[in-house]
Amino acid sequence: MTAETGTSNAGSGAPVYFDRVALIGIGLIGSSLARLMRRDRLAGHIAVSARTHATLDTVERLGFADSTTTDPRQAAADADLVVLCTPLGAYADIAAAIAPVLKEGAIVSDVGSVKGSVIADVSPHLPDGVHFVPGHPVAGTEHSGPEAGFAELFAGRYCVLTPPPGTDAAAIERVAQLWRTGGMTVETMAAQHHDRVLAITSHLPHLIAYTIVGTATDLEDQMKEKVVAFSAGGFRDFTRIAASDPVMWRDIFLNNRDEVLEMLGRFSEDLTRLQRAIRWGEGETLEETFKRTREIRRGILAAKQA
Ligand code: NAP
Repeated sequence: MTAETGTSNAGSGAPVYFDRVALIGIGLIGSSLARLMRRDRLAGHIAVSARTHATLDTVERLGFADSTTTDPRQAAADADLVVLCTPLGAYADIAAAIAPVLKEGAIVSDVGSVKGSVIADVSPHLPDGVHFVPGHPVAGTEHSGPEAGFAELFAGRYCVLTPPPGTDAAAIERVAQLWRTGGMTVETMAAQHHDRVLAITSHLPHLIAYTIVGTATDLEDQMKEKVVAFSAGGFRDFTRIAASDPVMWRDIFLNNRDEVLEMLGRFSEDLTRLQRAIRWGEGETLEETFKRTREIRRGILAAKQA
């Protein structure tokens, strides 16, 4: 695999092992990674950092960490691998805080859903001799917090790595192998390409879900009752997506602004076209569009990504 582009499959390559791993942020994704590393004995010591003692108490009770702290520097000191697993808006401050304690040769990675902004926020803080391998495991649920995680979350899904040009190939391979151990297929690509693709496959669908559920809650009371009763008609699926963490999604839209606005522009044009077809009774336009979109669903099912 090269730093520029490539795909590698789950289950290939030698097992990976880190003496000390620091997970900064321990919600759905961080705790799933911790459980995976525990299950497959991929780390000698798992140091966990979160903002609040309440979260760390839960982590201690769940038993997948070797040490816990509210100070990210304490977790990152002497770590071979540091993975940022907080909402994107916290990355720059965390990178600035941990930079002085990172050891020579350490790998810093992350799981954030936007990659261009992560490189802009984190890279400037990292000292020479530290390898930065940004990553995004494209797997999740609408649940948050350390209790929501599970080691199998990543199985059968894709992980995208967006190492800036010149990143150490061995460091990239170690991070790739970590995610492959979790059952992921790893793709390497440019950060901007990732952000454009995810804008249409993930960010815009969430924006639409948040909008439609918001529209329904603004309806007159009498209508609102029926929304819940008849939600199986399609609305229910949107409510699941719209239940995703508000802070995480606020940060995703603020950090992928250009790509989301580009896709939103295209979406609005297509929506207007369908609106016009409905108004003028152009059944053929509607049917043609729906036939085309049905094929996409079949493709997703065939690729086992349903
Ligand atoms: P989460 O369940 O809400 O957990 C967030 C964690 O970050 C908590 O441990 C929280 O600590 C900590 N945190 C929050 N704000 C912080 C701050 N300002 N400084 C330090 N720590 C802070 O989040 P998640 O769903 O795991 O998402 C984490 C990252 O994964 C995000 O960047 C997201 O884009 C990415 N991601 C999410 C999904 C998904 O489906 N959820 C999928 C792929 C990637 P406290 O509990 O103590 O506040």
